[in-house]
Amino acid sequence: MRVNVSDIVKTEGAGIDVNYSGDLPGLHEFDNSVEFKPSFDFTGRIVNFGGLLKLSGKLHFEFVADCIRCLKPVETAMDIEVNEVFGEVFDPDEVDAYIYEGNVVDIEKPLIDNIILALPTKIICSEDCKGLCKNCGANLNFKNCNCDESEIVDSRMEILKDFFK
Ligand SMILES: [Zn+2]
Ligand SMILES: [Zn+2]
Repeated sequence: MRVNVSDIVKTEGAGIDVNYSGDLPGLHEFDNSVEFKPSFDFTGRIVNFGGLLKLSGKLHFEFVADCIRCLKPVETAMDIEVNEVFGEVFDPDEVDAYIYEGNVVDIEKPLIDNIILALPTKIICSEDCKGLCKNCGANLNFKNCNCDESEIVDSRMEILKDFFK
C-alpha cells in the first residue's frame, strides 16, 4: 500500500490520513500455519516530524490457526497499535526507521512486521481445552478414551527399575 507523501515532506508538522482496507499479499509467505483473512483494516496518519515521517494508527486483522492442544481451527481477531518511522536516508540514530524513496511511503512492510510481532505463539481454543490423548489421539474434549494413564507411568517405572538393577 503506497502513499504519496510529496505534500508533507517539505513541511514540518504536516500530515496525511492513511486508511487501508484489504489484503496484505506479502504476509502470506511468512507463516503458513496461520491463515490470514484478507480483511486487514488500518486507520492512521503519517506526520512529518523533524524531517522523519511518523506513521501511527490502529490495525485490525483476523486469522485462523489450529489450537495447539486439540488442533481445532480457531478464529482470532486482533487490534494493534502501529508506530513506525520512515527516513529518506539511513540514519544511524534511527536504525529502526524504514527507508522511503521518491516521495512514496510503502506501509505494507511495517504493517506486516507489526502483525508478525503481535501474533500469539500459542493458540488455544479455550483455557481448559483438554487436548488429544497422547496414546490414541482421541479428542478428550468430546470423549474419554480407554487409555489407562497409569500404563504410561508404568513404562516410566520400568525404565527406573532397569536403572536400579
Ligand atoms: Zn483446543
Ligand atoms: Zn487414548
